[in-house]
Amino acid sequence: MSSRVIDFKSLIHDVPDFPKKGIIFKDITPLLGNAQAFAAVIDLMTAPFLGKGISIVAGVESRGFLLATPIAYRLKAGVVPIRKKGKLPRKTRCAFYDLEYGQDSIEAHADAIAPGTKVLLVDDVLATGGTAKAACELLTALGGSIQGLSFLIELNFLNGRTKLPRQIIHSLVTY
Ligand code: AMP
Repeated sequence: MSSRVIDFKSLIHDVPDFPKKGIIFKDITPLLGNAQAFAAVIDLMTAPFLGKGISIVAGVESRGFLLATPIAYRLKAGVVPIRKKGKLPRKTRCAFYDLEYGQDSIEAHADAIAPGTKVLLVDDVLATGGTAKAACELLTALGGSIQGLSFLIELNFLNGRTKLPRQIIHSLVTY
């Protein structure tokens, strides 16, 4: 089956009020578990960034890892995990982002990226854009040159792109 005839949205399930009331969680596990759809998603998320000299793909914990790793393999790039605070064992650099109440932070190893390295950022969902903005700040602070952002899903109504005005953003499925 060609990727053009796979209905990705039918494999992304809406889960109301998860993880808390008012959030409609986009559950991508049916899509990840479908061999044809998963292969097509990885190919389509990779395609705009082929031939751009990307040598690191950074994935955001935790669903971002599931997409960033095969994309890195397709680009013949390395993969760098961007993790929640306290998970990485060596010296880290961190970036903060706003939550509804308070702040949270993400971090990467301080030596994860050689200066000037061309980097692609990957995550499952672009929602308000706070996580991606913090990840971009972190990757730039580490010396990376961000070539683009690749998301499986973009929630257009949350206007996440407005937080990322200078970035090339590719999203496969939009709501
Ligand atoms: P944001 O910082 O608001 O753009 O949120 C992006 C991060 O939160 C991503 O790492 C997503 O995994 C997660 N996320 C946000 N909204 C949703 C949603 N509706 N369904 C699933 N994951 C979400």
